[in-house]
Amino acid sequence: MPEVIVVGAGVMGTSTAFHLAERGVRSVTVVDTRHAGEGMSSRSSALVRMHYTFEQEVRLAVDSLAYFRDWPERVGRPLVFRECGFVRIVSPGEGDLLRKNVEMQQACGAEAEVITADDVLALEPRWRVDDVVAAAYEPRAGYGDGAVVAGDFLSRAREEGVTYRPNTPVRSLLVGDGGRVRGVTTDEGDITADVVILAAGPWTRPLLGTVGVDLPIESEYHEVAVLRNAPDGPAARTACIDSGTRTYFRPEADGGLLLGDFIGPRDGIDPDDFPQVPQEPNVVEMIGRAARRVPALAEAGIHRGVTGIYDMSPDARPMLGPVAGLDGLIVAAGFSGMGFKICPAVGRALAEMAVGAPQTVDVSAFTPNRFAEGNSITPPYGYSDD
Ligand SMILES: Cc1cc2nc3c(=O)[nH]c(=O)nc-3n(C[C@H](O)[C@H](O)[C@H](O)COP(=O)(O)OP(=O)(O)OC[C@H]3O[C@@H](n4cnc5c(N)ncnc54)[C@H](O)[C@@H]3O)c2cc1C
Repeated sequence: MPEVIVVGAGVMGTSTAFHLAERGVRSVTVVDTRHAGEGMSSRSSALVRMHYTFEQEVRLAVDSLAYFRDWPERVGRPLVFRECGFVRIVSPGEGDLLRKNVEMQQACGAEAEVITADDVLALEPRWRVDDVVAAAYEPRAGYGDGAVVAGDFLSRAREEGVTYRPNTPVRSLLVGDGGRVRGVTTDEGDITADVVILAAGPWTRPLLGTVGVDLPIESEYHEVAVLRNAPDGPAARTACIDSGTRTYFRPEADGGLLLGDFIGPRDGIDPDDFPQVPQEPNVVEMIGRAARRVPALAEAGIHRGVTGIYDMSPDARPMLGPVAGLDGLIVAAGFSGMGFKICPAVGRALAEMAVGAPQTVDVSAFTPNRFAEGNSITPPYGYSDD
């Protein structure tokens, strides 16, 4: 069995460590600058749904949903997932694309169906649906909690013998003769291993820079508002991604509603230095947009805000696998705002890669080399705001 170092104890690194331990790989060290989950995972809206336009994404999401739903049996920790159902509303004119995507999702094992505007209204009588031509519905979707998931994966992995080194920033990758990565350098000395898995979120690019490799990962800043319930009750019990208002929202565990945006700024965004509280004018503008779908939101007060960084790849899909010219390294980054929902299956895929086992879900399309090779992912029925 190989010796493995996992850089980053977010949901990806900890899931990988968990799956390595499950396969009997005991010589695993997880290192993190801070503590497990304290990167972007703890800031995640943690929505879990299967509606994607690229088949391999859907397969990762379908497999991962099974983990979230069976968490106590699979991970040995209390259930963190909450089912709320999910509706995807696409732009008028993209209803046919939605139907094709739902067909593909069903073929991948997703419990998903196409519903009408009246069906949406039956689910959520307080929403406005006059612009809805068709929507996708997933009754089994829901949400989790990034900090808890990372903590659960890690604690379970540690019980199986995995070593955890918090407060240990990796300063550079160590490259030996023949260009093979053979470990990492920290302030407390070098740690060597047969395989290094780099799951450092938006900090991945600078770490790769220490060995002269550049992957096109950009930091994108996002703001999320947590709203109180409107005076007359919850504005939404179902989660939704809505192209009509370019917002997403879901109920919160303790009441209220979490509301986020599709896009954010990238210029000059630094994952070590970004606003920790959303700007009020931005939140007010976002609520105004979402209130076109859910008018009751106009009455909901702001409870608190969350900010965070998406590690964006050029095609907004993850980069998973070895990097050309650097044996011994596996990259897991560029999750582009979608990493939470797929972290169980991605961690399993990375563990399989590390030990050379067959892939349960084929993730070869996500190779980090695809951009240099001119093979960006283009799904057959992508949406204009995919
Ligand atoms: C606001 C927001 C909302 C989101 N909403 C959703 C959602 O609804 N659904 C969904 O599926 N996804 C969502 N995401 C995306 C998802 O949260 C991320 O894709 C996922 O958490 C990434 O996990 P990670 O382990 O790759 O990165 P991180 O959680 O960022 O972990 C990386 C770790 O690496 C460590 N690290 C960095 N540099 C070093 C170093 N040099 N040495 C050692 N350690 C290092 C960091 O300290 C950190 O702990 C959202 C993200 C944000 C920011």
